[in-house]
Amino acid sequence: MTLRFSFSSPGIRFRGIPPIVWIALSILCLVPHPGCTAPTHREVFSAMGGIPVKIVGKGFSSGQMQAAAAAARASIEQWENDLSFYHENSLINRMRKSPGQAVPVPEDIWRTLVYARDAFQISDGAFDITVGPLIALWKQAEKEQKPPDAETVRAVKAGIGFNRLRLDPAAKTVELTAAGGDDAGWSETRIDIGGIAKGMFAEWIVQNIDRGLNPKQRVKAEKLIVDVGGDIYCRSYRPGSECIIGIQNPFGEGLWGSLEVDRGAVVTSGVYERFFEIQGNRYCHIVDPRTGYPIETDLVSVTILDPSGAMADALATAVFVLGEDRGWEIVNSRPETEMVLIRSDGSSRVTPGIRANLDVFHVPASPVLGS
Ligand code: ADP
Ligand code: MG
Repeated sequence: MTLRFSFSSPGIRFRGIPPIVWIALSILCLVPHPGCTAPTHREVFSAMGGIPVKIVGKGFSSGQMQAAAAAARASIEQWENDLSFYHENSLINRMRKSPGQAVPVPEDIWRTLVYARDAFQISDGAFDITVGPLIALWKQAEKEQKPPDAETVRAVKAGIGFNRLRLDPAAKTVELTAAGGDDAGWSETRIDIGGIAKGMFAEWIVQNIDRGLNPKQRVKAEKLIVDVGGDIYCRSYRPGSECIIGIQNPFGEGLWGSLEVDRGAVVTSGVYERFFEIQGNRYCHIVDPRTGYPIETDLVSVTILDPSGAMADALATAVFVLGEDRGWEIVNSRPETEMVLIRSDGSSRVTPGIRANLDVFHVPASPVLGS
């Protein structure tokens, strides 16, 4: 296949699009090339309270894939232990209970917190992993079928903010600098990595498999695609084995389009699947930490491509909070990041770096590609 497009940013490159008919073969779009006999193996399991995790490898043995799935399960379990609000002795609970004390964190979690801090800074506070209490407030409102009053929203909002976490890069410790309200109340700072975890796990799984390859296995490897609840991280090992990643149709069944990607994260955040429903009104599952309220938006789907799974996940959420104009500005300022936006009227906007790699085959209303 001819190389239609390639750019030299670190870690992520994209190439041209093959015929649509191949794409229909699989939602994960691991398309066998004619004459190519390398086996494709899949491992599927569920993690983090029911999120499906799929690991698909072409040119890998079933043993390699099984070992990868086992390692991923163990790692995700460890993460959950560290970060769960429900495990009393979890890292985040230790932090919560000891404001002013520096808590050491494992390397993986440290890196995620650094990405979360970067995303917070890049997005002017629109992406904030301390948003947990606000999410809990809106979940509770859904349970009670009563929207929170403005005073309660204000009180909860006062307890959140990434600035309350002090990260010490030398010691790899995190410290809660102010504890917010009382233990039983809403207004306490806590970490919710829901907006960053799936992309990060997807990347971790791919990198972990890659790190474990011996030279013989590396020669055989063709491509890897990992899907954690819809957030993708992929890696192609040779020209002609690029990864075809579908973008879900936000307006109904099937795929809206597909992207051909050499390696990196492809993360889509959508407002068509998850929401809080209170008294018949739908509220978005993404909350603006600066107002305390679920966002209102004209966008229905934001897909981010980035070398980092965590950053792609965070940016997809951040663009929803910031809106199209500011979101576009931020993505454009990052040479390693690309984006596909779909608006509620069916039109779309795509950053120049991936236009040649995007195939749109669901064409609702009057799409506008580009601008
Ligand atoms: P998904 O990928 O699950 O469809 P998103 O990537 O958009 O959803 O992330 C939504 C999740 O992120 C929410 O369920 C919540 O846990 C968390 N979240 C919501 N708003 C924010 C925000 N402004 N900043 C950081 N995390 C958020
Ligand atoms: Mg996400």
